[in-house]
Amino acid sequence: MRHRIAAVGSGPGGLAFARVLHRHGHPVTVLERDPAPDARPPGGTLDLHEGLGQLALEKAGLLAEFEALSRPEGQAMRILDTDGTVLRDWRPRPDDRANPEIDRRQLRDLLLGPLDVQWGRGVTHVVPGARDGVLVRFADGREETFDLVVGADGAWSRVRPAVSPVTPHYTGVTSVETSLDDVGTRHPDLARLIGDGSVAVYGANRAVVAQRNSGGHVKVYAKFRAPLDWHADLDLADAEAVRSSLLALFDGWAAPVLELLRHGTAFVHRPFHVLPVGHSWAHVSGVTLLGDAAHLMPPLGAGANLAMLEGAELAESIATGPGDLDEAVRAFEERMWARAGRWAEITTAGLERLVSPDPAEALAQFDRVQSSG
Ligand SMILES: Cc1cc2nc3c(=O)[nH]c(=O)nc-3n(C[C@H](O)[C@H](O)[C@H](O)COP(=O)(O)OP(=O)(O)OC[C@H]3O[C@@H](n4cnc5c(N)ncnc54)[C@H](O)[C@@H]3O)c2cc1C
Repeated sequence: MRHRIAAVGSGPGGLAFARVLHRHGHPVTVLERDPAPDARPPGGTLDLHEGLGQLALEKAGLLAEFEALSRPEGQAMRILDTDGTVLRDWRPRPDDRANPEIDRRQLRDLLLGPLDVQWGRGVTHVVPGARDGVLVRFADGREETFDLVVGADGAWSRVRPAVSPVTPHYTGVTSVETSLDDVGTRHPDLARLIGDGSVAVYGANRAVVAQRNSGGHVKVYAKFRAPLDWHADLDLADAEAVRSSLLALFDGWAAPVLELLRHGTAFVHRPFHVLPVGHSWAHVSGVTLLGDAAHLMPPLGAGANLAMLEGAELAESIATGPGDLDEAVRAFEERMWARAGRWAEITTAGLERLVSPDPAEALAQFDRVQSSG
């Protein structure tokens, strides 16, 4: 008998899970709260690592398509002092495929392929142990039952309470994101500054990072240590007010760095929350989590990669294993917790160094990552 399986969430983790199940001919229901694929801006570019996100795409049979779409040159990284001095200028070799970049929208479309996602189906509650399986309740009051519900619904997961009472906490570091369009024609000096990949500038307890996406689009992130309510006297919907506040915060930094903030259009506030390092739970039959729902960590290039590999691995073990769904999920959870725990330690320490009272720490962190390959 085919199991009735639901993935809650159509982020990188939920889609990788569904796509690998689909590849093996196993039916899966994908439940997504957003009313349509482009209901929200998709966010910045993602780098997919050889042994993580790229491995997941290989399991989904999508590696060749990824290679055609992705930008290996986007791995380039330039680091500046706050006075604009170039401290590091690293460029990948032409054949370097370790961490190529891909726009989130391109990745989503690649994973979506033939999948039939149910849009506009926000889950509110998941109740294990119901008479006929695991009960899923939706925002519109309807209910459905499944044999397995996989919570791939991100940081503020509505599936997580079915297995764990833990909720994310604030790291003390927040970020305001903005973007520039047609950078090559509208801002050629900034295009040169950013190069093919990213430029990062580190000061005491703050940083500005600008990263090239495809099509001349650039995302700019101002990151800084601040209380969660730092914007209490600021209207975050007022772009001019946010811009002025950021320019004051980074006052004295080199002119081109300030230009990145000055030319930004809309501003989005994204405080960095995390789950505790090593978050796990007592196994609950019929429900599991993956990706940010299971192990939200600082955004330092691991989260989407882990979510995708977890999704692909869980799907593969369900589709190709001996058929005991609960055993497949238990084994998956042990493996996920061990790997995610290691990455949570790495990214937590990384965030401490990148947004640190001593900017030399950030440079040392960059050198450490480069020398570890
Ligand atoms: C600025 C920034 C840069 C980053 N860069 C990188 C990077 O380069 N590489 C990398 O690996 N990671 C990166 N990350 C981290 C990465 O974005 C996340 O770890 C990743 O998106 C997690 O994937 P996910 O599938 O677990 O969850 P999500 O991507 O959060 O997807 C969850 C999905 O579930 C849906 N959903 C939520 N609630 C419900 C509900 N109740 N019912 C139904 N659906 C629901 C959401 O609408 C969403 O579609 C970055 C993060 C940030 C903030």
